[in-house]
Amino acid sequence: MATTFIDKARISVKAGAGGNGCVSFHREKYIAAGGPDGGDGGSGGSIILQVDDNLSTLMDFRYKRKYVAENGVDGSGQRKSGKDGKSLTIRVPRGTLVRDPETSEIIQDMSGDEPFVLCRGGKGGWGNTHFATPTRQAPRFAKSGLPGEAMEVVLELKLLADVGLVGFPNVGKSTLLSVVSRANPKIANYHFTTLYPNLGVVYVDDGVSFVMADIPGIIEGASEGAGLGHDFLRHIDRCRLLVHVVDVSGSEGRDPVADFDAINAELVRYSPELARRPQLVAANKVDVLSDLNLLEALRAHVEALGYPLFTLSAAAHQGTRELVFAVADKLRELPPVAVYAPEYVKRPPKVDMSQPLEITVEDNVYLVEGPWLQRLISNTNFGDYESRNWFDRMLRESGLFDRLEAMGIRDGDLVSMYDLEFEYQR
Ligand code: GDP
Ligand code: MG
Repeated sequence: MATTFIDKARISVKAGAGGNGCVSFHREKYIAAGGPDGGDGGSGGSIILQVDDNLSTLMDFRYKRKYVAENGVDGSGQRKSGKDGKSLTIRVPRGTLVRDPETSEIIQDMSGDEPFVLCRGGKGGWGNTHFATPTRQAPRFAKSGLPGEAMEVVLELKLLADVGLVGFPNVGKSTLLSVVSRANPKIANYHFTTLYPNLGVVYVDDGVSFVMADIPGIIEGASEGAGLGHDFLRHIDRCRLLVHVVDVSGSEGRDPVADFDAINAELVRYSPELARRPQLVAANKVDVLSDLNLLEALRAHVEALGYPLFTLSAAAHQGTRELVFAVADKLRELPPVAVYAPEYVKRPPKVDMSQPLEITVEDNVYLVEGPWLQRLISNTNFGDYESRNWFDRMLRESGLFDRLEAMGIRDGDLVSMYDLEFEYQR
């Protein structure tokens, strides 16, 4: 087993922090006191996910598990803003699901070409230039940048294919894929040759094509993890149609009807929904058919259950065109490949408020800072009513407003915390 197929990985990602704002005053020879000229900090870089069709496994994530985007640079004098940190783009194979490790909820299904911002970089802090007003000409404060979002995620590959091949090992699934597409799966006369899924594009006609997935053969007990195949079933979860390949030759002493039922029972155990997916039955290896009764028994069995049956010899390229046309016809009436909707909702962060906040007063501006406040702000979605309420409650519970009152804050004074600013109202 030279190649290992990696289709699940856990990584940690961290966006860059915003740079700090700068406190500085304009200085020129012979000018005693110039105005404030401290520039803003740059924004931190974000963590962005992007589909790359040159990738087919999550192998890279086995060796590299930590991804960090660049921090923003601090602002400086002469109103110079700090440079924004560079965003980091992580490339993933198409069909990668991004999940929350604790709840397994889907954060994003990376099936399309749109980049996805997984973690936002922190905003840069304002330099003291921003705080100058006619009455406050020499503000000696600036704001710190906010930390970037950070999280752990599980990446899970669920291939995007229209058609999934199912069946016992050695029945000819890989051969069929190689004959109808340009894919080059391993083919050999022993079980378990296919160690990882293969995708092939099947061209039917001008502008008509579909994607077919060959997964390692399902064996009995696979859905319970009894053997190879269990992990691979998820790669056909999205398929619109299954082609169930059965070896009818009798050459290995197998009973096609029993095989067909065993695989379907396995599908039910894995996912009843997947088992109800439309199926076409491909009775393969008819070139070496030892007993016509085996084929006819299978035909009667599956047709009674409502599945159409096609006879073919994948190796001899017989009947494969007919099967391809039937698949294309069927696909025309089926819904598109499933794309999963995000389930994950960011929960308000739990913060330990035991460490008191730092409050600085300057010209009726109450500057509030502290590590937990920084964390709370950068993790609150202020566009969302519930989150805003939660934020407000946390501030109240922390005793901040009581302290401000005790310090003599009056209605209309400015409260300033990182990138938030509001007039105090009792
Ligand atoms: P898979 O395990 O289902 O992917 O099966 P493979 O495609 O690897 O095929 C297993 C063996 O069956 C190989 O030796 C193939 O050459 C052989 N085979 C596949 N299709 C046919 C067929 O139509 N006729 C005959 N005689 N052999 C076949
Ligand atoms: Mg195979």
